[in-house]
Amino acid sequence: DLGTYRNLITMPQINPPKYVRQILFGLQARGHLAYLVGGCVRDVIMNITPQDWDICTSALPEEVMELFPGSRPTGLEHGTVTVIIGSKSAEVTTFRTEGDYRDHRRPDSVTFVSDLITDLGRRDFSMNAIALSADGMLADPFDGVSDIEKRCIRCVGNPKLRFTEDALRMFRALRFSARLGFTIEYDTLSAIEECAELASELAPERVRDEVEKILLTTRPETMSAAISFGLMKRYISGAGWKTPNFADLASMPRKPLSRWVAFSIMLRKYGYIPSASEFLKQLRLDGRTIRCCTDAEVLLSQDPPSDSLGWKKLLNRYGVDTVTCAVQAYSVIMGIDCEKELRAVLKSGECFSLKHLAVTGDDLLSLGLKGPELGEMLKFLLEYVMEYPENNKREILLELAKYSEES
Ligand code: ATP
Ligand code: MG
Repeated sequence: DLGTYRNLITMPQINPPKYVRQILFGLQARGHLAYLVGGCVRDVIMNITPQDWDICTSALPEEVMELFPGSRPTGLEHGTVTVIIGSKSAEVTTFRTEGDYRDHRRPDSVTFVSDLITDLGRRDFSMNAIALSADGMLADPFDGVSDIEKRCIRCVGNPKLRFTEDALRMFRALRFSARLGFTIEYDTLSAIEECAELASELAPERVRDEVEKILLTTRPETMSAAISFGLMKRYISGAGWKTPNFADLASMPRKPLSRWVAFSIMLRKYGYIPSASEFLKQLRLDGRTIRCCTDAEVLLSQDPPSDSLGWKKLLNRYGVDTVTCAVQAYSVIMGIDCEKELRAVLKSGECFSLKHLAVTGDDLLSLGLKGPELGEMLKFLLEYVMEYPENNKREILLELAKYSEES
């Protein structure tokens, strides 16, 4: 009972790269079963070129490692080996089932098994539980192909049970719906509403990664659903006084920093979080992102500068990345467009940081300046140059330094 085998796809249509074929055929030649599985199969069926190719196999991890020297045991406890061929790599995972999930997060144990269907049965959604053999045979025991055709996300098995096992799957359902534009099937969606509370037990890092992936799709408004279902309860308390239009986030550049800036500012603006930095800290964002978000928030509480000196002062104080993100957020959140002004200042090449000052600390050392005096002088010269950009010349600044020192 190998499920529905449909000979839909033939190898030339799949066209996996050579290194992937090498792995599949290499395993088969040793008498093991080996299939493409997960996202790459979903992509092939949808006519999308896969980014990475995941393989599942009946071979045990040590057999995979032995067969492909130079492979790395990247997730041995889950049976995953990264097989490296030349400059390319693919993850090869042994067929497995998962034991009890004590804390709604991680299985207590995994057991390697010899059959494909058991392995497909532990996967999250029907569209992710399809295997494809090198010769184009499809194993689709949970009707994933038909769900892909219906553009529908459906749990493998009982949704409540599957979300209780691993609450992250609720985020994954929303993430895939945001990325692919699929709808979530009724029972699966109801189970998310019912099980949302369990998301509070997830490690913040895992939640952060899922939220970031949702924010980076073309449908960031999916975060409204995540919030209203209660998946973010641990991080976003209560409701704000107005629902932010997260769809606007799609106009921000497709970069984590830009999207986090606009997302946290929107949450704060409408009263969903008391402070952006606390929120981001709890979600374990890195220091640079947190600083950028909190600085951008300060910038957005002020009017944009009215002249190039004002812009240079901001650039000097907050850095190019933060000011750029803030300007994008100005436009997306407040409808104030000042990108042209900022771009003009950046393009002018006028100096706004010590890095671009025509004199260095060493120059001033040789004038006999040192310690705090030297620092003060650099600061003074930079301020001078921001005001008189045409005077960012070594001779002029050395002269000025000498003169100011004497007086
Ligand atoms: P992407 O294109 O984003 O990589 P993907 O479907 O490959 O999508 P991955 O997170 O790379 O997603 O996971 C690979 C496969 O492993 C999934 O397709 C799914 O079959 C299975 N999987 C991953 N995470 C889970 C989970 N939490 N529960 C059950 N199965 C999972
Ligand atoms: Mg993947």
